[in-house]
Amino acid sequence: ILQVSSKVKSSPTWYSASSFSSSVPTVKLFIGGKFVESKSDKWIDIHNPATNEVIGRVPQATKAEMDAAIASCKRAFPAWADTSVLSRQQVLLRYQQLIKENLKEIAKLITLEQGKTLADAEGDVFRGLQVVEHACSVTSLMMGETMPSITKDMDLYSYRLPLGVCAGIAPFNFPAMIPLWMFPMAMVCGNTFLMKPSERVPGATMLLAKLLQDSGAPDGTLNIIHGQHEAVNFICDHPDIKAISFVGSNKAGEYIFERGSRHGKRVQANMGAKNHGVVMPDANKENTLNQLVGAAFGAAGQRCMALSTAVLVGEAKKWLPELVEHAKNLRVNADQPGADLGPLITPQAKERVCNLIDSGTKEGASILLDGRKIKVKGYENGNFVGPTIISNVKPNMTCYKEEIFGPVLVVLETETLDEAIQIVNNNPYGNGTAIFTTNGATARKYAHLVDVGQVGVNVPIPVPLPMFSFTGSRSSFRGDTNFYGKQGIQFYTQLKTITSQWKEEDATLSSPAVVMPT
Ligand code: NAD
Repeated sequence: ILQVSSKVKSSPTWYSASSFSSSVPTVKLFIGGKFVESKSDKWIDIHNPATNEVIGRVPQATKAEMDAAIASCKRAFPAWADTSVLSRQQVLLRYQQLIKENLKEIAKLITLEQGKTLADAEGDVFRGLQVVEHACSVTSLMMGETMPSITKDMDLYSYRLPLGVCAGIAPFNFPAMIPLWMFPMAMVCGNTFLMKPSERVPGATMLLAKLLQDSGAPDGTLNIIHGQHEAVNFICDHPDIKAISFVGSNKAGEYIFERGSRHGKRVQANMGAKNHGVVMPDANKENTLNQLVGAAFGAAGQRCMALSTAVLVGEAKKWLPELVEHAKNLRVNADQPGADLGPLITPQAKERVCNLIDSGTKEGASILLDGRKIKVKGYENGNFVGPTIISNVKPNMTCYKEEIFGPVLVVLETETLDEAIQIVNNNPYGNGTAIFTTNGATARKYAHLVDVGQVGVNVPIPVPLPMFSFTGSRSSFRGDTNFYGKQGIQFYTQLKTITSQWKEEDATLSSPAVVMPT
């Protein structure tokens, strides 16, 4: 798959080397079970973030292509919804096996297009795989409820039924995990699905689609379109789409939530974050510093659960110099063995992150470790920023208010836990947080008082396993039903409730029952 990068020796099904006169391969659409070349005249370059070399082009699908994809989803829906839940489960059981067998290949694609290290890319696939494995328990998850004998000879029961065609819009930072939060859960419930991957990292989704087809998913149950605003507007507006799953920035998420909801769709939107790690002076120091550094700088800080803000409480303030020493030891590189973090996704992302670091200096903070000037040997054109630590940060500073989404840890200090809680709850975002302490009562108090979706106690990146749900409060989430777990099943299904009467004796009414039944 890495051959796609510059010299295409053999094109995988979803890439084509032939449609442009240049040697840059193009990504296909997936419509009606076929990988098809787009007829679009609008294309977006895909770059390797470690080199900025153009490694492919992705089309902005035409209106006719998007219509064909939706028509395919719609055509496939009745038969797929009618397929027994056991048969749908079988497809997913084969799928989880194929993902395991191809995990390294998917990870290589992620590293190529997204830039994260290979080990981290494998983690990206693995966390998505866990959702697929969980979707295999659909036979329990989709059970309805029953209440026998609500009155004489009368029973009440409910079914969980699919909605129809659902759609997903994904971000660049988890090219495998986040699409896998979406279509496997939706499809195992009997929905068909239209996926729009991030235009910057389409490769993993395309390979995942091929594997799903190889697992026996019927043609049309999953369709893939590519593009940006037009594709997003098409999804928000199309009357045949019943529900939209979105993960990405607040700007896009709030827009999609409002536009999709206006058209009567269910929308779940997971959005931005500013995650605080609160460090108590009684914490295990070495463990905490390693956890903080790993969670702040891993994936170059491009995780919605990156621990991008440290709040040092009381005597823990003295740990700052050691925190810096731990961060200095991280190795910045591309897909090389031993690399701890890779590049940012685009030169624009690098520029934005550097500007936010600059703003810290201008607004009175101190840069204790500066990664702006880093050069990585052999990858001089890549979008690298080294680990950066900004201290003396105050809540009114730009570098605190904005989601930086880069390898930058901003550090605040407080005297008490109560002050730390106040800071966390005053921040507009409520995605993830962690407390580091050896005191159970402190941990319990923190977990109960913070208004944040995911809370870690001595766990820096508390992404819930898929039998739970990935949540988020305040500006980090719009909607009312979350991703995966029981909530995911709820999002992708609707209830039908049946009240049924079977009498042994003659049930003929002697006169019309005009009064409301009680
Ligand atoms: P993004 O919002 O730029 O892109 C996400 C998707 O929306 C893409 O498919 C893109 O094509 C589309 N899009 C982008 N701008 C749009 C616009 N103006 N109108 C309509 N559609 C648009 O996000 P990104 O940069 O790919 O991802 C990073 C963001 O995602 C960060 O803010 C991060 O915190 C967030 N994120 C959140 C979670 C979570 O679960 N809370 C998980 C991962 C990433």
